[in-house]
Amino acid sequence: MTVDGDGTVGGGDHQPPVTTAAATTEMPIPRLSLLPNNEHISDNYEDLELEFTSAILRSIEKYLPMDKLTANREEKAKFMSDILCKYISRGECSKAKRYKNYRERIISNYQPRFRELYKLDPESFLLPTFRKAISENTEESFRRIISEPFPGVFVFEMFQPDFFEKLLAEVENFRTWAHETKLKITRPNKMSKFGVVLDDFGLDIMLTQLMEDFIFPICKVFFPKVCGAMFDSPRGFFIENGEDRDAELGFHVEDSEITLNVCLSKQGEGGEIFFAGTRCKKHMDIDPKPEERFDYCHILGQAILHRGCHVHGARAATTSGRRANMILWCRNSLFREMQTYEKEFRDWCGQCVHEKKEKESQSLAAKRKVKKKKRHEFAKVYIRCLV
Ligand SMILES: [Zn+2]
Repeated sequence: MTVDGDGTVGGGDHQPPVTTAAATTEMPIPRLSLLPNNEHISDNYEDLELEFTSAILRSIEKYLPMDKLTANREEKAKFMSDILCKYISRGECSKAKRYKNYRERIISNYQPRFRELYKLDPESFLLPTFRKAISENTEESFRRIISEPFPGVFVFEMFQPDFFEKLLAEVENFRTWAHETKLKITRPNKMSKFGVVLDDFGLDIMLTQLMEDFIFPICKVFFPKVCGAMFDSPRGFFIENGEDRDAELGFHVEDSEITLNVCLSKQGEGGEIFFAGTRCKKHMDIDPKPEERFDYCHILGQAILHRGCHVHGARAATTSGRRANMILWCRNSLFREMQTYEKEFRDWCGQCVHEKKEKESQSLAAKRKVKKKKRHEFAKVYIRCLV
């Protein structure tokens, strides 16, 4: 089983930071003060070639020990960078830096084809029925436009056809620009050769607003446990599958709490999405039970909403078939943090629930056996007394 944790530069592969050997042997360990010096005005580091951004350094500068507060910028930057490197490897730093440069190069040079796509305009992007249901904001209003063909899989239409056409053309425009300027596009995952990360060329602002104002209210009703007060750090992708495009991903889970998957275009037959139970990390490789299997034929214009931990994949389309989808990962850092404390049992994992039921029925059977034995012994004593 794979975890589609994008693996992109600066992406969300969320491995714990690795402390370098060099960092662990450095002595003495530099330390920050526990209390900030709120009177201190931080320096600006924008013009220096550093591992960490000026914003990060500025935010911790007021925690510098007194003897460092008055040092020159270079010395302060080195001191703070050495501390930060204890928590994040130099490899991670340079990866983040490369990603920052990549995004800056795009944002300052790429000319969008449809500027109106970059700011969410609900009236022109979204269907009136969808907007109405969200503005009423009740389970009843959502159920009017959303079907649940299988527990935990929600299907609905939300976008105007014009939105799909513009998004497809915008992605093509970006690819052409990247080709002409010899920019190597960072792909959504290691296997992808055709996908693009929508955030990278500026669509993140629009997608964040879409997530907060329109997807979150639905999730709050249908997936209340994972929502918290609001999702954070969304990621948006465009993927294309077909014979002359990327192959379909097999069984996988995603680095998201909730995934929105919208079918933007579809030619040919096949390419059904198959679901195979929700799984926690511990049970990711446990085969689905027959009752957990569900196939869904994703049709043009439809959005599917499901948990990121809902194991799924897509069947290959027919020879001439091709599909383009917009994927939006909605994430919740607080939920993830809380999960690290919940070691034993997760009520959203099909296998955890199955194992809990097994344990309960085994313990019930054991109790019944003890009771039966006691009854039997009592009967024997009673009969003996009668004789
Ligand atoms: Zn589990």
